[in-house]
Order: sequence, then structure tokens, then C-alpha cells
Amino acid sequence: MNCDCISEIEQRVTQKIKESGDFKKPVKGARMKELGFVLSGSTFTTRTVTNLEVELEGQKKKPLIPMTHNYCPFCGVSQRPEKAAEEKES
Ligand SMILES: [Zn+2]
Repeated sequence: MNCDCISEIEQRVTQKIKESGDFKKPVKGARMKELGFVLSGSTFTTRTVTNLEVELEGQKKKPLIPMTHNYCPFCGVSQRPEKAAEEKES
């Protein structure tokens, strides 16, 4: 990720859940689950993903195929390291 959206959203949501009183037990935190890791060069980068559910003949269990997003779904910044560098230069 080339932005702080995930951590900022997790913090904001955690705070709202704490204030809401919706849960009987104390809230420790909220974590976004739709994240994946992509090998970019020699380093792994975090990206948001949408999971595709595959239906197979004769099988109840539906395997998931994660599709990584090229752009942050919250702020629109490219999630690819090389693209972010280009966008900053221009
Ligand atoms: Zn973002």
C-alpha cells in the first residue's frame, strides 16, 4: 500500500465501535480481512483484494481466488510501488 488508509480506517472504526457500546466485552481492535500480499521485485507489498468464489460441479466447498486491486479502493492511490513513484514525479 502506498497510503495509510487501512490503518487509519481500522483506528477510526475501532474507536467508533468502542464508543457505540454494541459489544458486551471490551473492544481490542478491528482488522480489515480483505488484504493480500504481492511479490513486487524482491519484496512483498500489501494490497487490498476482492475474493472471487468459484463454483465447482459436485462440490459444496467453493474455493476463493483473490483478485488484488491496483488502486486503493478508499483514496484511489496506486498500490503498485513503481506507479506511485511515477505519480509523485509528474
Ligand atoms: Zn488509500
